[in-house]
Amino acid sequence: MDKDLARLKEILAEVDDLSRASALLEWDQQAYAPRGSAEARGQQMGSLNKIGHERFTSPETGKLLETLKKIAKDWDPDSDDARLIQVTAKRHERAVKVPSAMVVEKAEITSLAAQAWQEARAKSNFPHFQPHLEKVLEWTQRYAELFAPQDHPYDALLDEYEPGMKTAEVQAIFDNVRPKQVELIKAIAAKPAIEESMLHQHFPEKAQWDFGVEVVTAFGFDWERGRQDKVTHPFMTNLGYGDQRITTRVYEDFYNAHIFGTMHEAGHALYEQGIPKKLARMPLYNGASLSVHESQSRLWENLVGRSKPFWSYFYPKLQKVFPEQLGKVKEEAFYKAINRVAPSFIRVEADEATYNLHILLRLGLEIDLLEGKVAVKELPSVWNERFNAYLGTTPPDDAKGVLQDVHWSYALMGYFPTYALGNLVSAQLWEVIRRELPDLEQQIAKGEFGALLAWLREKLHRHGAKFEPQEIVQKITGSKIDGAAYIRYLQKKFGEIYAL
Ligand SMILES: [Zn+2]
Repeated sequence: MDKDLARLKEILAEVDDLSRASALLEWDQQAYAPRGSAEARGQQMGSLNKIGHERFTSPETGKLLETLKKIAKDWDPDSDDARLIQVTAKRHERAVKVPSAMVVEKAEITSLAAQAWQEARAKSNFPHFQPHLEKVLEWTQRYAELFAPQDHPYDALLDEYEPGMKTAEVQAIFDNVRPKQVELIKAIAAKPAIEESMLHQHFPEKAQWDFGVEVVTAFGFDWERGRQDKVTHPFMTNLGYGDQRITTRVYEDFYNAHIFGTMHEAGHALYEQGIPKKLARMPLYNGASLSVHESQSRLWENLVGRSKPFWSYFYPKLQKVFPEQLGKVKEEAFYKAINRVAPSFIRVEADEATYNLHILLRLGLEIDLLEGKVAVKELPSVWNERFNAYLGTTPPDDAKGVLQDVHWSYALMGYFPTYALGNLVSAQLWEVIRRELPDLEQQIAKGEFGALLAWLREKLHRHGAKFEPQEIVQKITGSKIDGAAYIRYLQKKFGEIYAL
């Protein structure tokens, strides 16, 4: 048994090394590589991924897992090794169900679709993208069927990002949240708009960058085990134990993008920096799921970073950095401006109160597409209709509507709901944190985040991917993921800001 477990860990470590090496190439491509490198880099990443996939799905891995699954029944079910077998076996089961011809087919379809999407978005020309999306959808429908029988074909897609979660569960959560959020936004829309012109001034890049570094250092980002670089579309990547990298962007004419983006990616990195070394080079050396990951980025970006106590400490410092721009702007006015609610067409620019509605729109459409209730060619009109029902306004063109996101061209269906679930989980965790750390606000108002980070480390980070999202949320908060805490949070915060 010990020999089998040791052998399995050896294989998993190699698979993990290959995937982190591929991630490093990806990071380099986004951050530094010259444009001319794209083709060679694509081939190199393709080779690493292929070798890793073959290694992981090999008969040897399968046999080891079969043997160990039987033995593991006698182990403590929450032990690292028992969880390792469980998580790995599930992934392995999924991986071997997908014929390699379908993997190759997907790569071909999606690379063409991604290119067509770019051209279509640039010209706001949906018909140019339509035949490609039809192929992607047809592939996705076949892919989902590989996992039959299941309650709903969307379950197969969701399970990839949210292990163990079912479509019906996610729908029930959002059916509860949606009407309350729509109602809140209507109430806000009836109030006078908040002044935010002070955020649209010239903020020199270096000063923004240095202030962002000061903030995430205070959060507890470990620069011995991470770094920050500039990219077009920010992300965080974990390149193995001791190397969690964040990326950011700076707009010199709009303050929000850099600071909140930096906090967001640092939130992701703090999670991964908190996973212990003993889980490294294994499938457990990850977050529990995308939504749990997003709960961490959102927690630092929004619950901390857009809060009053946070700015009561940091705003005077920010005013010193930008005396001409903000010297005469009161803290209260700044706080309201960074929390301004206004329906926007673009998801990634949405504020806290409207963000989830952008996701719910996509979730409903993905399910309808998969079920064949909505045809690809009907997408633009259905999008606009539903967008209006949720957000009270209609996109002027498809570039600002159905064509705005890249995900579908990469066959990333089932991915969007993780963003909204992350918001819900962040507020759910926050209620427990507030109870268990009663002086949290006073600490934040002194620029102290040590107790908060220690709490997150102890309750969540140290477990890595040992528990499924519903399990870990239940463990920490006493209930499964539900939207009630998030709605309470939004109502209280925006009720005060907008005097509702
Ligand atoms: Zn994120």
